[in-house]
Amino acid sequence: MIHDFTYLRPGTLQEALSMLADHRDDCKIICGGQSLLIVMRQGLVVTDYLIDIKGLNELNYITYDEKQGLRMGATTPHRMVEKSDLLKQKYPVLGALERKLASIQVRNWGTIGGNLAHGDSSGDLAPTLMALDAKIKLSSAKGSRTIPLEEFYTGLFETALNKDELVVEVQVPPVRPRTATAYKKFNLIENDQGIAGVAAMVEVDSKGTCKDARIVLSNAGVTPIRAKSGEKVLIGKKISDALLTEAAEAVANEADPVSDIHASEEFRRHLVKVLTRRMVKQAWEEAIRLG
Ligand SMILES: Cc1cc2nc3c(=O)[nH]c(=O)nc-3n(C[C@H](O)[C@H](O)[C@H](O)COP(=O)(O)OP(=O)(O)OC[C@H]3O[C@@H](n4cnc5c(N)ncnc54)[C@H](O)[C@@H]3O)c2cc1C
Repeated sequence: MIHDFTYLRPGTLQEALSMLADHRDDCKIICGGQSLLIVMRQGLVVTDYLIDIKGLNELNYITYDEKQGLRMGATTPHRMVEKSDLLKQKYPVLGALERKLASIQVRNWGTIGGNLAHGDSSGDLAPTLMALDAKIKLSSAKGSRTIPLEEFYTGLFETALNKDELVVEVQVPPVRPRTATAYKKFNLIENDQGIAGVAAMVEVDSKGTCKDARIVLSNAGVTPIRAKSGEKVLIGKKISDALLTEAAEAVANEADPVSDIHASEEFRRHLVKVLTRRMVKQAWEEAIRLG
């Protein structure tokens, strides 16, 4: 049962931030409601005020600039990311992951800001955006700050958001030449959260040697995990079966999965190993092809 609350619908971002400042200790933001309504129905979230930001069209955008890269507003629905021709061209990994994220109905209502702010370590967007070196912009009535997405996740369903802050934008730098990113999750139910997932970015030089790599795991710990030891294994080397195995072992050791009704800790670690091999290989080969 959902407890009574006062429903507020700001018309502008400024109005939303001022409502948030006024009710910071007893309010909750709702956007698409796809995650929030579930926990409210379960009685896990009880609030006096619900501030509905879904109508803030000023935060519903996808823009690209060769210097600054990609900007996506927080109320942009998943479906818009999935359908964007710009993203298909510049960041194909994002459209591809969206096609496997939930159902069309959820993608129509659910937003990227809500997905990231929810802080669920099994989400698909955060690890992929972290592999793309994204930043997240947070605003309050007092001002704005932009932090690496990597620093946003602080614990189980916990983020660096202050009580008076909103997620307003995601920023992704332009993709460097000879660079590709791949993401895959393993799931038992088609188009649902993964049992575990791996995002891998690989940059190669003109000889095919790895110049840079980022590997980020979903649902392999309480937050998305950047597996830096696996990245170190790759940098400065050429692709080989032995190298992929070494990197996958390192990444699996860095994972910190739990056992739950969906999978055991051991199985999740195994998945991380298999998916790391596959995603690093896929990104590496694509990066070479682009060169
Ligand atoms: C059936 C189903 C399947 C799903 N499958 C997947 C999947 O495969 N992969 C995946 O990644 N996700 C999946 N999801 C999660 C889904 O992507 C999210 O529910 C959705 O993106 C959340 O966005 P929303 O706008 O609905 O957020 P809401 O539900 O409105 O809000 C979620 C949380 O974020 C907060 N919030 C929302 N917007 C902001 C903001 N701008 N600033 C600060 N806080 C904010 C809210 O207070 C709340 O705590 C699934 C959900 C469902 C229901």
